[in-house]
Amino acid sequence: MAPGHARGSACCLLILLSTVSLFGKTPPSTITLAVDASDAPRKIFHAKLTIPVTSSSSELKLYYPKWIPGEHGPTGPIQDLTGLRFSAGGQALKWRRDLLDGWTFHVDLPAGTRSLEASLDFVSPAGKEGEGIYTGGASATQAMTVISWNTLVLYPQGWASDELTYQASLRLPTGWKFGTSLDVASTNGQTIQFGPVSLTRLVDSPVIAGEFMRIVPLADNPPTEMDIAADSAAALQAPPEVWDHYKRLVEQAQKLFAAHHYRSYHFLYSLSDHVAHFGLEHHESNDSRVGERGLVDESERKLEAGLLPHEYVHSWNGKYRRPADLTTPDYEQPMKTDLLWVYEGLTSYLGDVLSARSGLRTPEELRDSLALIAAALGHTPGREWRNLQDTADGVPAMQGAPQQWESWRRGLDYYEEDVLNWLWADMIIRQQTQGKRSLDDFCQLFHGGSSTPLMVKTYTFDDAVNALNQVAPYDWRRFWNERLSNHGPGAPLEGLEASGWKLVYNETPSELFRSDEEDRENTHAALYSLGLVLSKDGTIGDTVEGMPAAKAGIGPGMKLIAVNGRKFSADILRDALGAAKTGSAPLELLVENTTYFNTYRINYHEGEKYPHLVRDESKPDVLSDIIKPR
Ligand SMILES: [Zn+2]
Repeated sequence: MAPGHARGSACCLLILLSTVSLFGKTPPSTITLAVDASDAPRKIFHAKLTIPVTSSSSELKLYYPKWIPGEHGPTGPIQDLTGLRFSAGGQALKWRRDLLDGWTFHVDLPAGTRSLEASLDFVSPAGKEGEGIYTGGASATQAMTVISWNTLVLYPQGWASDELTYQASLRLPTGWKFGTSLDVASTNGQTIQFGPVSLTRLVDSPVIAGEFMRIVPLADNPPTEMDIAADSAAALQAPPEVWDHYKRLVEQAQKLFAAHHYRSYHFLYSLSDHVAHFGLEHHESNDSRVGERGLVDESERKLEAGLLPHEYVHSWNGKYRRPADLTTPDYEQPMKTDLLWVYEGLTSYLGDVLSARSGLRTPEELRDSLALIAAALGHTPGREWRNLQDTADGVPAMQGAPQQWESWRRGLDYYEEDVLNWLWADMIIRQQTQGKRSLDDFCQLFHGGSSTPLMVKTYTFDDAVNALNQVAPYDWRRFWNERLSNHGPGAPLEGLEASGWKLVYNETPSELFRSDEEDRENTHAALYSLGLVLSKDGTIGDTVEGMPAAKAGIGPGMKLIAVNGRKFSADILRDALGAAKTGSAPLELLVENTTYFNTYRINYHEGEKYPHLVRDESKPDVLSDIIKPR
């Protein structure tokens, strides 16, 4: 190549930036990582690293990734890092864990050490949910696994993850296939050699692998596909319209943002009842895990219909545009989660909108899911003491909280409450511009522009507010400050109501409500009536503070034994709630509490209550317009 002078200078600058860190040091040459996953069905993974040593110090400090991007907390599964050994030139080296940070290791180096070998095992939790959360949760079965590289690497202190280069290889069980957004350099039998990438890219590029895999192309430009691994071949046989809906998801997302910031995109989809269930975003892929019948069973499919749209939106909102407070140089520096109302809240809203625009959900199913969100948030007394901002600020410390007392503690409400808040913002944009603009215009301004290679463009609270102002002038700062700091009462329904729909309760649950109940193995017959979260055997998972059961003295962890003198079942409870509507006698609940039995009498006569949205004919139906395909 013979570039012109100006171009030559720019090129040199680029090379300089990529080989010398900001501190003026030269990063170590490529670190090799050989992962042996051939024992995946036993849930143990072996890794060997060769780490070049650049300093003459007598000690090397190595980190195991602690703050995992997208997990919003110090969730790196350090308790599952086992079999740790270090050596140099065949000689075993002494090491010690840091006394103040369990993810940090100090390794003694003999004088003149140029290269260090590390070997380690990652033992993945067994059982349905296992002990850990997200990528630290159950991740392997007899027939499939997801390799999250952060569980299998160490990295030297002193370098940003962008500055370190890893050359990874992966050995899979015999006959297993795989999918990933990483570039494959070569394959040899069951061993895959990947091209060299930064540690950032490696950790951001998991590999799904399994005996039963299906690759479904969704788009050609840029190449987009689903890489699905399941616990059975039958689980992969979804009806043809499902693939059409996912193809339309990609089309609709491209229309929403009018640009993309990835080279190719892979939906890595796990179908298993024996792995942890969640979705985790990456820039060029997502690691999403649902039950084995999540594609073939219609009610399970409807229940999960929002998951892949949500994780896909993150490629734009979260990976390309990222809160400055969440953008850290490595996995050791803590992340600040204050802007999750954009990172997760807006993603949840756009994911829901795209789930309908793509056909994954019908308009009615989308409205049913909004009704569930609005009802749950309307029964969250915890907002009295805790505002929405604090649900985001507190998440690194609180996301492992139990379900008990959730209504009083508050959960991760920046997901669902911000669905209602961003719908409200969408309505304000439409009202302020007489329908000429919408939140789609904000997405094109904030996340779109022109397509770029992989890059991160950070933002602050002010940047988000300024971009909203560019789309539709309004006091957005005040709007968001009020949304984030208010204490209710009740869910913010103003945007929903302005869009032409009202939240009502009647005695017939929606199909989505039923599926949700079934999936959780609960009965929610008394959720919005008495304020009881009940499992099918009567165990009380939670009580909603301020509602009749809690007021009567019932609390989480107790067990409902009998209703009006008959042994508890969901049907007996429903019958009793129905009968109480016309009578004046109180409901009599026999409840076990730590081996004691008590009878509670509750004067409740309003029957079962299930949430729905109904049209408000006094207003135009803007919601239906929002969720129409573009
Ligand atoms: Zn998310």
